[in-house]
This record gives sequence, C-alpha cells and structure tokens, in this order.
Amino acid sequence: MAVGSAISSLLGPPACEKDAKALRLIEEMTRNADAVQERVLTDILTQNSRTEYLSRFKLDGATDRESFESKLPVITYEDLQPEIQRIANGDRSAILSAHPISEFLTSSGTSAGERKLMPTIKEELDRRQLLYSLLMPVMNLYVPGLDKGKGLYFLFIKSETRTPGGLLARPVLTSYYKSEHFKTRPYDHYNAYTSPNEAILCPDSFQSMYTQMLCGLQDRHQVLRVGAVFASGLLRAIRFLQLNWEQLSVDIETGDLNRKITDSSLRECMTKILKPNPELALFVRQECSKENWEGIITRIWPNTKYLDVIVTGAMAQYIPTLDYYSGGLPKACTMYASSECYFGLNLNPMCKPSEVSYTIMPNMAYFEFLPHEPNSSGFTLDSSPKLVDLVDVEVGKEYELVITTYAGLYRYRVGDILRVTGFHNSAPQFHFVRRKNVLLSIDSDKTDEAELQKAVENASRHLREFNTSVVEYTSYADTKTIPGHYVIYWELLVKDAANSPTDDALKKCCLAMEESLNSVYRQGRVADNSIGPLEIRVVKNGTFEELMDYAISRGASINQYKVPRCVNFTPIVELLDSRLVSAHFSPGLPHWNPERRR
Ligand code: AMP
Repeated sequence: MAVGSAISSLLGPPACEKDAKALRLIEEMTRNADAVQERVLTDILTQNSRTEYLSRFKLDGATDRESFESKLPVITYEDLQPEIQRIANGDRSAILSAHPISEFLTSSGTSAGERKLMPTIKEELDRRQLLYSLLMPVMNLYVPGLDKGKGLYFLFIKSETRTPGGLLARPVLTSYYKSEHFKTRPYDHYNAYTSPNEAILCPDSFQSMYTQMLCGLQDRHQVLRVGAVFASGLLRAIRFLQLNWEQLSVDIETGDLNRKITDSSLRECMTKILKPNPELALFVRQECSKENWEGIITRIWPNTKYLDVIVTGAMAQYIPTLDYYSGGLPKACTMYASSECYFGLNLNPMCKPSEVSYTIMPNMAYFEFLPHEPNSSGFTLDSSPKLVDLVDVEVGKEYELVITTYAGLYRYRVGDILRVTGFHNSAPQFHFVRRKNVLLSIDSDKTDEAELQKAVENASRHLREFNTSVVEYTSYADTKTIPGHYVIYWELLVKDAANSPTDDALKKCCLAMEESLNSVYRQGRVADNSIGPLEIRVVKNGTFEELMDYAISRGASINQYKVPRCVNFTPIVELLDSRLVSAHFSPGLPHWNPERRR
C-alpha cells in the first residue's frame, strides 16, 4: 500500500483505497505543518485583503507572519460585537470576509446571556466535511470490520432563527446535517447509519429520538458502534429508552408506527423501514423491564465494539455512567471542533479517555497559542501578548487556542486551554484541559462564575420577605440523574426563626435562578430537555466554615482561601450533603424562545 506512513503502520494497512488517500493527507499535512500554516495564513490574508477589518489595521495587502503579528490585535468575541451586529443587521459589505457571510453559527458559548454568533462562509462546509472524512479511515486502522454493519448515532437538529438582516442563525451541526454535503452523501459501507436522514432532520426532538431508537432496535444485530456527539446525548437516549420501551415494543410487534409520529415525511420513511417483529418486541420487553439496566447497551446491541462520544473536557463527568450502561466499552473521542472552526482529530481514538490527545490539522485555519499560566492574564507588562506558532509549542505546556479563519476571525481567542502532549510528525497533539471560565456544564451549556453569582443574587430576592439572606453558596453539576441538573448549595442566615423561608419560596428561588441563567441553559431546559430542574440544597449553618477547615487541612492557605463556587471533589460533595437541611427543585420551566433578547 502506497501510504507508507507512521500512522498506517501502527495497526496495519488502510482498509481501502479511499482510506489510504485520507491517511496520506493526514501525513502530508502533519509533516509539513509549518509550511501548510504559512500557506493558510497567506490564503486568508490574500482572500480578505480588502475587508474593512484588515484595512483598519493597515495590513496593506501584506500576507507575511511578521506584519500579521505586529499589526493585528488578539481579540475576543466581545471585541467583534460591533462588526457582528452590523452583519446581523444586514450590512453585506466585506466587513470581515471577502466572501459573503452565508449564515451565523450559534455557539454554545454566550455573551451577555445570549449565544455567540459566529459568521461563516459557504466554503467552510467543505473544510468541515474534509475533517469528517478523515475520522473513519483512522478508526478503521484500530477497529477492523466496521464495513460489516452500521452505526447507531443519535443525531439531532435544533431550532434556527433569522437575524434582523435575514441571515440564518443555527448551531453548526444543524447547519451541517441540513446541508447537501450530509443529506446527499454517497453511501459508504464504513459509515452506514441506522438512522435515516428523515429522522435526523425531524425538528421535533421527541419524534426524532423515537424513530432513531426504533431503527436502532430493529437493526440491533447490525449495530457495531453506538454514539452521539457528546456523552450527555447518549445518556439521554438511554433515558428515553427507559421511558418509552413499552410503546416502542408495541410498534415493533405490530409494525404500526406510534401516532405521536406526525411528521409526514418521517412517517412515510418509517413505514418502509418498520416491519412487524414479535420476537424482537418480546426481547425488548424482557430486557427493558428488568430492574437492572447495567450493561443495557451491550445487551441490546451485542455487537457494539465501541461508543463514539466525546468524553473529554466537561463530558468526562459522564464516564462512570457510560461505563455502567455499556459494561465498560471503549469510548472513542474522535474530534475536536467548534462553531468558529473545526480543529483536529484523535489519531489514537481507542485510547483511554484520560489519554486522549487531538492533533490539530494545520490546513483547517491558522493557529496560534497564548501561553497559559494559571492566575495570569497571559499578557506581558506592555500588554502585548506573546503568541507561539503551531509547530513551536512545547510539550507539557498549556496554551489558550487563538485562531484566524477563512470566514474572517483574526487572532481570535477561542477560550479553550490545551496542554501539549506530543507531536505527530511536526503537528502538535493536545490534551483538552478545560474551557476558560466555565463553572458548570451539563450538556452544551456553559455557566461561568459571574452568571452564577447574578443568578444567586436574583433568586435571593425571594428571601427578603423572610428576612433571610444567602451567606455562602457553591454549586455542583449532578450527573447522577438523567438528564443531569445544577445543584446549588446555600447556607442561609435566617434572622427570624419563626418566619424561615418556606418550601414554596425556595422553589421560587430555584426558578428565579434558572430565569437568570443564559439562553443555552434555558434552551437545554425547555426545548432540548437535556438539563433537569435546578435544585437548591440548604445546608446547616457553619457548613462553609467546615469546608474551609477541610481545605486548610489539605494545605490551602488560610489567607488566600476563597469559597469554591463549584465543587466536584467527592469528599467535599459528601461533606455538603451530610449537612443537608432541605432540598428544593425548580417547579417549572424558565422562559425560552429561539429569538434573541437583544
Ligand atoms: P461550540 O461553541 O458550541 O461550537 O462549542 C465548541 C467548544 O466545545 C470548544 O471550544 C470546546 O470548548 C468544546 N469541545 C469541542 N470538542 C471538544 C472535545 N473533543 N473535547 C472537549 N471539549 C470539546
């Protein structure tokens, strides 16, 4: 085989000629990482030389790294707000990109409580598809025989809106699944799904999940891999099965589709797929009615070789639950991507989650790295950041990712902290450390400290009539429930014991907190059902002092001790729970609609 690369020699030759081509591309890109990066920068700056943004910084058509680094500032989303607002309001001039902005991708990161809007251009779809096309060729090196069956993937689209200027605004995956790239993809034995496009593209999340599950059950012996984008999504599917297996088995037994499936194209497609199968219905009933759901994934889909879900970053909290339901199947984290740009892939996808490293593909964008030192801003005294090029990062060091994209983000701080673990050829490989400033995350929501503080402040207004205030608080992402939910621990100062806050008042506090949280959180609660009701756990007086004593006994400095606003260390959570006075859940749903508030 002509590939002759380090990667293909790891586990034998590529599975087919198409794979060989993809692996060759990975090799070429990673061997020549610096030259590819230089070319990408030149391309981006040439293509966009006449944009308002590059003209403002007097790049004057220069495309070299030195001019780029000396003239363009390193920015955040907030710095770009005015330009983004203009584009959203309908200004079609070449503000950031010479190519027309085709749509906005709504990031799960937020700004002032609303999703960030990432401008994108048509050709970015090709780049995203290119990265997707590399995933199976790598996987085929490690797991043979994936062409002999199918993948059961729970994939969904989410609601979309239009900006005042008429541009679509939707999540990147919704954009991808609705594109011709995805809908008319050629059949590939190595990448066959049990879910038909009609099910994936159904905007109603119940109907979409129901039919995807039904197809997965029908094809149960053919399923070789089970996946979702994030671990939380796969667990939601398991929960869905727990709640709906009875009706699903009726459909399987009779071959008649549940009347709740009302989408006409989906009904039409499902009637062709669904066949009466009483034997399978009996099996599903037998397995699902058992009290113990341990290993349910491999019981129902016995040929599953691995789970394809991201369990790095915030999703690592779901590993024990996934292991429980799958009997410890390998978990493959295949790629690292965002609305702004797709970054790279895992060249060793069957490794342990703790060992996952993503190799950044140098042809996706121009990458720079801001050295990250915890407790420092990353800026030197003259406030000019010292950024490092892709090939110059050092093993063991942590950096914040900074990107320059074809769509017109220049030296843009993504907010992800990465640690270099090694190199594949001359392209570095990164462990995803964390996203900056994220305290709590259950699904794609990301809540920071300031948002949590504001939510506590707003909620505690309901305590005024009880002459009560919140003395201290902390939080915890409880993923033992499906869907997971936010738990906020409160220590209260009740000034009048005869008039202490009622359960009703504390429930109102829960809902008030949810109302204050950002739109991604509220969408997860209302539309996606991916986050459960927020819970306030009131703890005994003095609990937070005990927390401090505990931290100091473990070496924290008494002068510098700060109450952690989020806890996930089991002994601390146990300590808090052992001091529980009462627990209260949000009684309703917060407000959410797809329209932006601003
Ligand atoms: P979004 O803005 O909604 O597109 O989310 C993109 C963000 O999700 C990235 O910047 C990361 O913080 C996170 N993310 C994406 N892929 C991974 C991954 N493989 N592991 C950990 N976090 C990831």
